Amino acid sequence: MKRHAVLSLTLAGLCVFGLADAPPSKRALRFRASHPDEARQWQQQAREKLFALMMGGRRPDRVPMDPQLLKKEEPAGANYTLRELTLQSLPGRRVHCWLAMPKNAKPGATPAMLALHGHGGTGEKALRGEGIYWYGKALAERGYVVIAPDIGSHELQQKDWTLMGQRVWDAMVCVDYLCALPEVEKTRIGTAGLSLGGETVMYVAAMDTRIKVAVSSGWLTRLDNMKVRHCPCWNFPGLEENFEFSDIFALVAPRALVLENGLKEKAPGGFPTDLARAAFADIRAAYEVFGVPNKVTLDVHDGGHVFHGTPAFEWIDRELN
Ligand SMILES: [Zn+2]
Repeated sequence: MKRHAVLSLTLAGLCVFGLADAPPSKRALRFRASHPDEARQWQQQAREKLFALMMGGRRPDRVPMDPQLLKKEEPAGANYTLRELTLQSLPGRRVHCWLAMPKNAKPGATPAMLALHGHGGTGEKALRGEGIYWYGKALAERGYVVIAPDIGSHELQQKDWTLMGQRVWDAMVCVDYLCALPEVEKTRIGTAGLSLGGETVMYVAAMDTRIKVAVSSGWLTRLDNMKVRHCPCWNFPGLEENFEFSDIFALVAPRALVLENGLKEKAPGGFPTDLARAAFADIRAAYEVFGVPNKVTLDVHDGGHVFHGTPAFEWIDRELN
């Protein structure tokens, strides 16, 4: 009887363990490096793994972007013009986006930002400054070339890909487009986003080293917490076996990274500050390995699930100007 009870308890324990995440130490590509060379080697391996997991087995081939301009307008009183356009991102797939171009943009000398919206947003809303994804317009007003793609679709179009893979690749094609614009200085490109936008910022900055500064807002948490009442579009096979979100952020090091977390974020679920602080400690450890702990910061602000912008905009200006 007693042995039975012990066995049942053990089985129950195993079941609970099986349903929950693997313990952090079990993930295959956990950041453990103690030397910059070792860290760079790990980053190379981890990046290729993310491409493989998210984008059909390997880093995709680029296709000619074939930009198609749909509309051009001059918002009243603005120091930039707006363009609506589409770009070819894969065979049979185009990304719809909006672009803000400063009227006084100098050839080859203008910094640029990729602004990424979250659930319920669009690239247009981000650049018109409507709703919680207002930072696209704010960046345009600060003089950046800003591109804001639509990344909110929940339709998986590419065979053997993941939703996040499609979104991240579309965003990277937008970085390709920025690099191809004569006005943009290729070495001065950053990205910012809230929520799903903050998540996409994490992947784009991790996997695309052209990004020099990243602001990920309303996203820093632990993987198991995302299973509590969230839209499951963040998840894909192989993610939790290999990574924790802090590992993916460690791929941004030693480049500048701002993480924003609101004290009024919902908990459980949401992005509670205690989880953000714990994840931040792991990310900061990676920056310490590179000898640049001051290149990463966690802005814990008084708000909820919002883009704060202080000191994020100052960091962007400092890194790109
Ligand atoms: Zn979703």
